[in-house]
Amino acid sequence: MDLRSVAKVVGIVALCVAASASAVGLAGAQPATPTISAGPLAAAPTASPSPSADHSPSPNATAGASPTDAAAAVAPATPDPASSPDWGVVAGPDWVVTNPEPLPPCALGEVATPLSGQSAWALTLVDTTYTVGSGYVPDDLVSAGAAGLSNYQYVRSVMIGDLRNMVGAASAAGAPLGIASSYRSYDTQVWTFWYWVNMLGYDYALKSSARAGHSEHQLGLAIDFESAGGPDPWTYYDFARQTAAGAWLKANAWQYGFIMSYPLGSVDKTCYGYEPWHYRYVGVAEAAAVRASGLTLREWLWMHQPYPEPDSPGPVFVPGPTP
Ligand SMILES: [Zn+2]
Repeated sequence: MDLRSVAKVVGIVALCVAASASAVGLAGAQPATPTISAGPLAAAPTASPSPSADHSPSPNATAGASPTDAAAAVAPATPDPASSPDWGVVAGPDWVVTNPEPLPPCALGEVATPLSGQSAWALTLVDTTYTVGSGYVPDDLVSAGAAGLSNYQYVRSVMIGDLRNMVGAASAAGAPLGIASSYRSYDTQVWTFWYWVNMLGYDYALKSSARAGHSEHQLGLAIDFESAGGPDPWTYYDFARQTAAGAWLKANAWQYGFIMSYPLGSVDKTCYGYEPWHYRYVGVAEAAAVRASGLTLREWLWMHQPYPEPDSPGPVFVPGPTP
């Protein structure tokens, strides 16, 4: 199998992350490659980079984004991890960088993500280490039908207005959008991840599917887009290059508050392979700031996580599962 074929296989795998348990026929899929000590936490989705993403780091990115969206509404002065589980969004005219620590490696872990409150949605970080746990369920899920998309897909209501506008703009541009997968519960993600472990083996699954608790889909803020009426986006070699919908999203989604979480060539920073169909909603102001920074979303979110006070215990890392 040549490299292109391998890439194709990996790309298909990635879909897994996107594909819902039902879509991939998880029924009957049993964990064949055990070893994930799925405690109270679970797994999550995927990551991927995009060719055009400019990942040049610029720590103090303050993108002239006007904080007019809901994400910029709440701005706690000094977040205290120990006493406030729901800090809201730390945002303002100049996005405040609160975390001076370097981006951690993509280690497997089960660390409770600090900004897990429902109102802190724009800055909630989930990756291979940080998790929202098994009990996290968005409190404002609504049908994507409210935005002109499938009535059978669910997303957080905070994005509906921008999503509706984006769907309309894409359609007007000749690139109508559809949804392949959006909100996925913790339990659905458990099956989704193990399905891919069965299909591809544990190591490959880790690069294309999030362990339960670690998926942006569980946040209700991630959408795997497809062309309206088209095939699953991961069946393309490169959804962003081969479809009008994928190309339009790559160029314009940020204007509606959506960022491609896992762009091409950024697996060392995002922890997942290229997923040109997976977008995370962060709000219009933050999306503009993320884009202007040239950073991947994980890097951006990491920089904006609350930083523990010197005497606070800080996050506790629990040994991750052994592959
Ligand atoms: Zn996805």
